[in-house]
Amino acid sequence: MYINGSWREGDAHFAVHNPATGELLAQVAESTPEDVKAAIAAADAAFNHWSETTVYERSALLYKAYELMLAEKQELAHLMTTEQGKPLRAALNEVQYAADFLLWFAEEAKRVGGRNIPSVRAEQRFMVLQQPVGVVAAITPWNYPISMLTRKLAPALAAGCTVVLKPAESTPLCAIAVFKLLEKAGFPAGVINLVTTSTPAFVGELFCTDKRIKKLTFTGSTWVGKHLNSLAAQHMKRVSMELGGHAPAIVCADADPHHAAKGLGLVKFLNAGQACISPNRIFVHRSIYVSFLETMVDRTKKLIAGNGLQTEISIGPLINEAAVIKLERQVEDAVAKGARLLCGGKRLTGPTFDAGHFFAPTVLADVTEQMDIYYEETFGPIAAVLAFDTEEEVTQRANDTDYGLAAYIYTQQFSLAHRLMEKLNFGIIGINDINPTSAAAPFGGMNASGLGREGAEEGIQEYLETKLCGYLI
Ligand code: ADP
Repeated sequence: MYINGSWREGDAHFAVHNPATGELLAQVAESTPEDVKAAIAAADAAFNHWSETTVYERSALLYKAYELMLAEKQELAHLMTTEQGKPLRAALNEVQYAADFLLWFAEEAKRVGGRNIPSVRAEQRFMVLQQPVGVVAAITPWNYPISMLTRKLAPALAAGCTVVLKPAESTPLCAIAVFKLLEKAGFPAGVINLVTTSTPAFVGELFCTDKRIKKLTFTGSTWVGKHLNSLAAQHMKRVSMELGGHAPAIVCADADPHHAAKGLGLVKFLNAGQACISPNRIFVHRSIYVSFLETMVDRTKKLIAGNGLQTEISIGPLINEAAVIKLERQVEDAVAKGARLLCGGKRLTGPTFDAGHFFAPTVLADVTEQMDIYYEETFGPIAAVLAFDTEEEVTQRANDTDYGLAAYIYTQQFSLAHRLMEKLNFGIIGINDINPTSAAAPFGGMNASGLGREGAEEGIQEYLETKLCGYLI
């Protein structure tokens, strides 16, 4: 734990394991309610001073953290692969993405201005101030265990907020490494606080009920997000919620099926499918369905699963056993209801895999609305593919989900792309682009995928309160 500028060991501990090998990596402090309250008190005590620093001071510290993160890129990526499982190359990309948020918000800190509004009364003026909301509580997930921290910490700190952060229980070591780096950058005591635990519910409850916390920012599953949002609502706290997704991908008749299959294969199997923007239902126009599947299966079979520290590995393990069991259930359900299993479909076994949590990269064809996978987030390496015939049909089916985070479209027709872009109810749309994300662009979802946006100029607004001052001169 990192509380009020010092590291605390704690009396009790929980184990952190490598998901590829089962190896015990470390024992991490199990925070008590008193520790969490101490962290909130430290953040509260530090707020006045921190919020009164100039934006140039805050920007300089964030920029320093950015430089340190780039300097420690290799070590951080190595730790991430060991703790979370993604291949080293993907971990390096994530550290770069994480650093991008530090840089972006080091710059954005200087652009919080407020505004003046003219009045109908000659002697009246309106001024709008934007001020930091106060102490921020952050809860982060394990799938992107460094970038999801900086995506919250950087805008909160840039805005002048102080923070208490609780990382996921599977990946606290990445969080500790980020906090060591921020400590080295020189953030004052109390401004950033870290509490670790393997039993997160009590922390969520303290975050939502403590008067000193003014804002909760959460990234994780929809059901935990809904639970925290309802708790936070009872105390009228502001929230940002980045929740689950069930992204459709639409491959139109004019698209090159091989190019689309390559692209969607890449994004589908990225992070072993453990991403909220992972395509979950791939709709392919019937005229190119067979060619698309051929390439998709061919590419999927070439993926090499294993320990991400080895250079030839293109897909790592799942985070835990529960994730493997969920995928086994989804495949079994789909096949029983008529899906064609074209490759994979089972856990990987053998000396390389038995100690970890591996699932074979899988392609399921002819998926229908009757199958669990059609509505339920997969969060694993299963490409669920189905054919469609008309634009109207695919638009309706793509929108047939409670989620609304990401969607993908492959077409060269501008007007078709534009129509789909307007009709699809998703917060992020990739058109011939499997990576429509950047620290400079607003990330977030609609409906059950959450509230608010992260990154871009919207990202800092989430941590600002608006104050109207009307006055007579
Ligand atoms: P996943 O199922 O992908 O692990 P979760 O929503 O369970 O997603 O986890 C995301 C984050 O939410 C993690 O930091 C986890 O510890 C935290 N979390 C899970 N349950 C609760 C809860 N009841 N209150 C607060 N945080 C929680």
